Amino acid sequence: MRTYLDHNATTPLRPEARAAILDAFDLGGNPSSIYTEGRAARALVEKARKTIADQLGVIPAMVIFTGVGTEANNFAIKGAKVDRIVISAVEHSCVLEAANATGKPVEIVPVSQGGVIDLEALEKTLASGNGKALVCLMLANNETGALQPVREAAAIAHQYGALIHTDAVQALGKIPVNFGLLGVDMMALSAHKVGGPQGTGALILRDGVVLEKLIHGGGQELGRRGGTENVAGIVGFAAATSAAYKNEPDIKALRDLFESKLQEVSPGVTIFSSAVDRLPNTSYIALESLKAQTTLINLDLEGIAVSTGSACSSGKVTGSRVLAEMGVSEALRACALRISFGWTSTQADVTKFIEVWQQLVARNSKNEQSTAA
Ligand code: PLP
Repeated sequence: MRTYLDHNATTPLRPEARAAILDAFDLGGNPSSIYTEGRAARALVEKARKTIADQLGVIPAMVIFTGVGTEANNFAIKGAKVDRIVISAVEHSCVLEAANATGKPVEIVPVSQGGVIDLEALEKTLASGNGKALVCLMLANNETGALQPVREAAAIAHQYGALIHTDAVQALGKIPVNFGLLGVDMMALSAHKVGGPQGTGALILRDGVVLEKLIHGGGQELGRRGGTENVAGIVGFAAATSAAYKNEPDIKALRDLFESKLQEVSPGVTIFSSAVDRLPNTSYIALESLKAQTTLINLDLEGIAVSTGSACSSGKVTGSRVLAEMGVSEALRACALRISFGWTSTQADVTKFIEVWQQLVARNSKNEQSTAA
């Protein structure tokens, strides 16, 4: 049996989502058709929209379904009627790349050693520039799990007449997320990080914010995003979101147990962002001299799946951009491994990982000793 510890890359499909998806597939029907089958499909989409809206404390009309979380971020950034874009240094590549693709000035706000945005620097940036700004600040970082002060940033952004968008892709299902309490204008979500299917996302848009269209086509999503809705994906997204907030095991207890055992067997280990508020499921670690790429392959051979950071950037030899922004040395960046727990995780996963990790550490120090001899 495999030990899957990469829930931040994608979370296995929850049974509740799978059942809802299969029902939707069996139903058929285009939600834009006005005969019986179409109306039934429309009813499913609207029920799902309400479920997600209720979860976030918004009205259903504020939920725009998209293809993926990446599309939701692109829509917010490319569609915003602003003159410049201000983003944190640790945003996901789909935010950074989308901002750069607009051709507008992009200003990057630094983060602390713990990976949290410097709010004073944000305020200075907003105060110094010309024209209307869009601020992009993620709610939780996908690599470190560090939570960002989005509510405070929203207050600052609005004080300077800016719009604020938050990428909440990693936060949904892991911590409470309430759109109104955060005070943001836009929020991106993704189904597969919650235990829904891949290829479905949503943009939450505050009433009164008008975006340029990204996907032109029919009048779907109240004319804001063309294309026949992914009915099965959408109902799976809603079912997964509800399940995530109803039945989650105590992930934080599991993650904390993991980290205490890890420190016991490898006292030199670094746990990034452990001094700041972070997601309860994420542990981003590095042990100097235990190279991440080799460790990942060795863990995989032993049946354990983890990541070297963001799935989208793994494979790059330079190591994590997020850690570089936090001032982590290149040597330690090359050793960074992300372990992320989720609804399938158990204590047996922790035991298995620690057992194999201990063997790898012992083998590595033996190799080092024989090289030195
Ligand atoms: N934003 C963050 C923080 C992510 O972690 C990811 C996925 O890794 C995305 C956006 C992109 O979401 P999707 O895979 O649905 O395009």
